[in-house]
Amino acid sequence: MAASRVFSAHGELCASHPWEVIVATLTLAISMLTVEQRASRLPVAAPAAASQAEEYSAAADMIMMTVIRCVAVLYCYYQFCRLHKLGSKYILGIAGLFTVFSSFVFSTSVINVLHSDISDLKDALFFFLLLIDLSKASALAQLALSASNTEEVRRNIARGMATLGPALTLDTLVEALVIGVGTLSGVRRLEVLCCFACMSVIVNYIVFMTFYPACLSLILELSRAGKHGRPAWQERSAIVRHVLQEEKPNPVVQRVKVIMSAGLVLVHAHSRWGLGGDDTTSVPSVGVPGTSLPLVVSPTTSVSSTAVYNHTDDFTASSIREYLLRWLTVSADHIVILILLLALAVKFVFFESEEDIREQMLVSDRASDRERRHRSYSHGHAFDRMRPMLEAGWVEVPSREELIAINTEHKSVQTDHQEQQQQQPPPQELKPVTEVSPTCQQAQQDIAVTETTVNKTSLDEDKEEPQICRSLEQCVDIYRSKEGATALTDEEMLQLVRASVVPSYQLEAVVKDPERGVGIRRKLFDAYKPGALADLPYTGYDYSKVLGACCENVVGYLPVPVGIAGPLLLDGQQVHIPMATTEGCLVASTNRGCRALLSCGVASRVVADGMTRGPVVRFPSAARASEAMVWMQTPENFEGIKASFDGTSRFARLIKLHVRIAGRHLFVRFVATTGDAMGMNMLSKGTEVALGYVQKTFPDMELLSLSGNFCTDKKPAAVNWIEGRGKSVVCEAVVPGEVVSKVLKTTVQALVDVNVSKNMIGSAVAGSVGGFNAHAANIVTAIFIATGQDPAQNVSSSNCMTLMEPWGEGGKDIHVSCTMPSLEIGTVGGGTVLPAQGACLSMLGVKGANEESPGENAKMLARIVCGTVLAGELSLMSALAAGHLVRSHLRHNRASVTSRPSEEKS
Ligand code: NAP
Repeated sequence: MAASRVFSAHGELCASHPWEVIVATLTLAISMLTVEQRASRLPVAAPAAASQAEEYSAAADMIMMTVIRCVAVLYCYYQFCRLHKLGSKYILGIAGLFTVFSSFVFSTSVINVLHSDISDLKDALFFFLLLIDLSKASALAQLALSASNTEEVRRNIARGMATLGPALTLDTLVEALVIGVGTLSGVRRLEVLCCFACMSVIVNYIVFMTFYPACLSLILELSRAGKHGRPAWQERSAIVRHVLQEEKPNPVVQRVKVIMSAGLVLVHAHSRWGLGGDDTTSVPSVGVPGTSLPLVVSPTTSVSSTAVYNHTDDFTASSIREYLLRWLTVSADHIVILILLLALAVKFVFFESEEDIREQMLVSDRASDRERRHRSYSHGHAFDRMRPMLEAGWVEVPSREELIAINTEHKSVQTDHQEQQQQQPPPQELKPVTEVSPTCQQAQQDIAVTETTVNKTSLDEDKEEPQICRSLEQCVDIYRSKEGATALTDEEMLQLVRASVVPSYQLEAVVKDPERGVGIRRKLFDAYKPGALADLPYTGYDYSKVLGACCENVVGYLPVPVGIAGPLLLDGQQVHIPMATTEGCLVASTNRGCRALLSCGVASRVVADGMTRGPVVRFPSAARASEAMVWMQTPENFEGIKASFDGTSRFARLIKLHVRIAGRHLFVRFVATTGDAMGMNMLSKGTEVALGYVQKTFPDMELLSLSGNFCTDKKPAAVNWIEGRGKSVVCEAVVPGEVVSKVLKTTVQALVDVNVSKNMIGSAVAGSVGGFNAHAANIVTAIFIATGQDPAQNVSSSNCMTLMEPWGEGGKDIHVSCTMPSLEIGTVGGGTVLPAQGACLSMLGVKGANEESPGENAKMLARIVCGTVLAGELSLMSALAAGHLVRSHLRHNRASVTSRPSEEKS
């Protein structure tokens, strides 16, 4: 549109030549102020001449003016609160500066040009305040503040002007014409005031179109941060488009305005030029400057009531009464306005923030209601799995009191932060924005920071359309409504999280879209470390399997390279083993071991199966503890305990109790088979119930902890090495000497020698428990990660003794075995339910539960791990024996990006 282009060019001109525009505008204002008063003032009637009717009309007039002034003050307060809610001191400051400056300076100059009495300024000012629309000024300020550099500031101002300019021009025209109708009213007072209002509208328009964009551009230019050029004022690039869209005028309304203004022009033409000429008089002293439009007044009201009040020189006895009346009305006017201002100030300072808190309390109450409703709604749903966590206290919902405290704390933190920001020089690099901000402004700022910082755009969030927020109150209302969180944008949800209306950990459940919930949480984090998550993917993942089962506060998923080793000939079956690792050489080395074992194969056996949980209980005395110990070990009592334990699961079966006493303490190690599950949760559940059974006989037994470290889970402990935990597996292979030399590039003797020296003597010297191996943990962990095992359980699971001895006639072959007593492993539950991990289990043919023989899949997986460890041990030990290790690692670990297993094989 041509008009937009013109305004855009005009805006760019103002923004790119701010000094020139400001100087020109000020010069114009000053010259208007110094214009010689050519016209004579209106004739003023002496107070004595004022009739009784005029006195009452003056009083009524004063009351009307007081009301108008109060409305103007209230309107200003409303505008101020709106801007304050935006939360930006820049927008508030700039728009406020604009208002004050344009109101005072330009109104003064206009009044001067009108040759009106300066006492009229107070009326003109209130009209000015009423007519000024700060929303346009703040929209332009928002656009300018969203820019990240000077060039963008200009561009945004130009875009803003292109959008706002045409609509504002039309609005000004319509307003001026509508108000101008008042100048035809014939009521002298109204005519003067309408004249001022017209002037205000026009002056406001001129200032907005020239002085304001120039000032804006200059202020932002001057407040730019130092070295890095990041502006201290930067607000949010995300909203640019939306501000523009919001401000785009409705074409139908525009058309109506054009038609209306055409009609009004006709009305004015009709009234002013001839058609109504008989009863009108031109008054050049209050005419519209720069135009030939005379202000039309009625001869019957040619005495200005304002003028009446301004001439009190001739005090006569008869005028005392009138003077007192006027004094009282004027004072009343001032008192009313003063009281209003004080009331508003008190409301703002003392009650606004409390209202916020009350609102949030209300919201939190409703949120808990919603939470309850959601629980019943999502029964059987994935989110429902969070319920035990909530009940167990693993995740906490803030109480109502905490919410208020948090809110108050956030406010003070925010104030502190803002104060610090004001005191500190511009940051050298991006810092976390603020701890929590209740305003949408802050949320958008955070997002803007992210968007401007993240350059790598592999994520969908970088392609997102920028969004604008509704106010917190609106968002809370929508959130509470039937539509719920699904009707809110991400930024609006961020706003709710920051205001503690929605807990971050419940985002997925609240928005009923796990991926979206994760995306919103990422944005929250981005405020602290902008762009840090750019390379962490999060889209296209089935989070329904994660929530309430595998991870909380999810921000994405981690891709780990998965390699395949094998085939491994294990108990007559060939298996390909998935290994998730970032250690170059590991898969290649294991693969070589598998190749060496292809001809002979590996035989494996699960020799024991029993997951453990070892609570600690305390008795009043050691004697009482020993009584309980004996009682638990008595077969018939054990049967009772077992019955209560087994009743908790279809698959968990208690097989023994291993009890140890330490003074008044008893450590009871419950050992149970757990089918295809690794079984820790099952054990915990069964143990708790079984202890309840024991407590019936020993009510003085005190349960100190369900886990007394005698289990022992995820910590090095001899008990697992000696007693076993999970699956205890052993595997063996007899590798022909020929293979040893051809594939492993070493000799049987060298291998045996290194194994004894390193894995036996070396580990003994080191005081190792369960570490009589070369690198079992490497293989265990890689398979654990690939198949969704609990990675922390690699501690005990890696317990392994690798034995090698010459075998066969003349000892030309080698017998290798690995004994792993504590493989904590499963194919059901935990991370095994995740799609990628499930795929790796499928590769091995052990996914999920074994329907025919529960537990067989987990045992098979344990055997595969053990067999693969054997392959890995064989390969690494060979490399050490042959002195290949360093060379091989340098080649695969460091030298190149890609692994070259083919070379390793050669
Ligand atoms: P789980 O997923 O908690 O329990 C296994 C579930 O699968 C049970 O509900 C069981 O039914 C069912 N199931 C179906 N078919 C089965 C089969 N063939 N064999 C066994 N169970 C079968 O898994 P878990 O192994 O007990 O616990 C693993 C999780 O616990 C992991 O996420 C791990 O990280 C975590 N963990 C917990 C602790 C702890 O102290 N609680 C410690 C370490 C790790 P039933 O309901 O009939 O038993």
